[in-house]
Amino acid sequence: MRKELENTLLHCRNLPSPPGVALRIIELAQDPNATLGDTAQVISTDPALSARLLRVANSPLYATRRRVGTLAQAMTMLGVNATLSLALGFSLMHGLRGRNGTAELQEQIWRRSVLAALAARILGQQVGVGRTETLMLAGLLQDIGRLALLQTLSEGYAALCGQAADNNTLRTLEQAAYGGDHAEIGAWLAGQWNLPDYLIEAIAESESAATEDPFLRCVQASGAIADLWLCKGNPSDELLELVQFRVAACTGDANALDELLPLIGAALPEVSAIFEVRIEHPAHLQSIAEHARELLILRNLRQIQEMAQARNDTQAMEERMRQLTEQSHRDPLTGVFNRLHLDETLEQEFTAAGEKHPLTIALLDLDDFKLINDRFGHLVGDQVLRQFAQTVQRTLRSSDVVARYGGEEFLLLLNYSDEAAATQVLQRLLEDVAQLPMAVVDGQPVHVTFSAGLATHNGRDGSFGSARELLQAADNVLYGAKRQGRNRVHLHTP
Ligand code: GH3
Ligand code: MG
Ligand code: MG
Repeated sequence: MRKELENTLLHCRNLPSPPGVALRIIELAQDPNATLGDTAQVISTDPALSARLLRVANSPLYATRRRVGTLAQAMTMLGVNATLSLALGFSLMHGLRGRNGTAELQEQIWRRSVLAALAARILGQQVGVGRTETLMLAGLLQDIGRLALLQTLSEGYAALCGQAADNNTLRTLEQAAYGGDHAEIGAWLAGQWNLPDYLIEAIAESESAATEDPFLRCVQASGAIADLWLCKGNPSDELLELVQFRVAACTGDANALDELLPLIGAALPEVSAIFEVRIEHPAHLQSIAEHARELLILRNLRQIQEMAQARNDTQAMEERMRQLTEQSHRDPLTGVFNRLHLDETLEQEFTAAGEKHPLTIALLDLDDFKLINDRFGHLVGDQVLRQFAQTVQRTLRSSDVVARYGGEEFLLLLNYSDEAAATQVLQRLLEDVAQLPMAVVDGQPVHVTFSAGLATHNGRDGSFGSARELLQAADNVLYGAKRQGRNRVHLHTP
């Protein structure tokens, strides 16, 4: 809160102050040793207050079978704390009421306060918070900041209230004009009055969005419920959702409003009589409840749709990621795996292979490929590389890995294949490649051959210490195959 506002309030002759009896009740409320006798002594000095307490004690709020005839009986029934809370509420309200010319706005504020008190009480009972009267008092006093503003700033504050269509807008305007909203100002005032700490906190937090404390949650919901009750015409979706949200925060059930509104309606005649405010029963209570239910259904539907959408988005994203990962592992020209994939896979397969099962690798290099490029051009060279890769892929098992190792070199990982099996596969591939044209130029088939070096890792003596050594061995025997005339398969022997 701005210091200027605090000063204005402090030096304002109009700043509301509690009447004498309320001051004594406040003192008693702070005194842990206060007895029923002390309380009775204070209350009995104010006949109007005594009468009101009697009336409350006999009201349907307390399901007493016996008529409560005296203040002493009423207080015994209620207990010290409840009596003090009720008495404080009554005496403060009585003392603060009707002091200023802006009577209509003041009555409007009290209507909201009394409704909020009732709503907080009912919510508290439903949730099992206990301290019913204390909750009621907190509900009742949550807007004393507005009363203080109205009394000190009078028409200026009334004009501000006239501009605000709802409570949130009002708070924003208050913030802008005074540097604090009515919750903050109310809590400050409660501090000045020496009200108990729990009340100061309840007023300060009355407009907050969330808290863990069930008592405060009831107070927070109570103001919004009062706004719902008092709104002229149909409430906005925002207000309804706010109420549902806050009620659900108290009760854990977004449908709780359905039960709550009739309970408020039932207790309202008695409560408004006790507090002497006129509160109309909204003609459209039924339609508010229906609207609230529709809103819930719509919101559930929306949540379901959003969840479904989010799931679809996630699936699409995962698919895209899968595609991208797959792509990053493929050679764009030939479609077989690339070096990146090969490096990862070779390490893995090498580690997995050994004594339990063999791994044979084959390094293939196209023979005189430079000549193909020279004679037919690079595009045909590319076509040959593609066709060759596909031929290799078709010939091998799907569990084997075909990767482009470099320009016209390919590496095959033949898992579970020993020397003999792998040699057989490569011989067959030599024959296939020799027969199949890899491209057709001017109606003429283009043929290529290849040379291959094979090395097997089988965990036996003389086997390899690393994937790198295995690769080196295959490269060495490939070199030998080239030297001995190409178009052949050589096997590394330890
Ligand atoms: P050798 O039998 O000794 O292997 O002879 P070679 O001509 O195949 O060997 P060399 O390494 O001299 O030539 C390989 C050629 O492959 C050279 C290069 O231009 C060609 N080449 C490499 N990558 C590609 C490619 O992506 N597309 C095409 N069209 N040619 C490529
Ligand atoms: Mg080469
Ligand atoms: Mg070559």
